Amino acid sequence: MPAPKLSVRINEDHLRQLCCDKLGFKSVPRIEIITRGHQRRHYGTYDPLRNIITIYVNLSEQAGDRLSAVNSQVLHTFLHELRHAWQHRNWTSEHEMRDDRRNYSEQRRERDANEWAQTHAAEHRALIRVSRITRPPAGFARLSTHSRRGL
Ligand SMILES: [Zn+2]
Repeated sequence: MPAPKLSVRINEDHLRQLCCDKLGFKSVPRIEIITRGHQRRHYGTYDPLRNIITIYVNLSEQAGDRLSAVNSQVLHTFLHELRHAWQHRNWTSEHEMRDDRRNYSEQRRERDANEWAQTHAAEHRALIRVSRITRPPAGFARLSTHSRRGL
């Protein structure tokens, strides 16, 4: 059985408010949603050079997932990456490297991004909507074409 197709929609107004008013960004980072061809489940990346957030949503593995669970996971990933964008703008390297333990700055970035995403998930629930792409049966599609023509 083929995996259900999902669409991921971002609420642009909400995103602009979050980025520009709350996080103080000059502009909204570019967002890229990849919904096929990846092995891992819901994860994302932030590329500071291109200022682009990429969110991967793996459809085949999600066949058994509940949509509401997928929605909160994708939201968490998105907020996590947005926090990395904020860190990139606000953290100095001195700030990040205060402790000289190996990989500390990376752990610190990840921990902070996870905590921030968790704390703000409820507030930004409206930011992302994952839904199933459903196609009406062929007969229904023909009917709606006819009725549209009649208007
Ligand atoms: Zn991360």
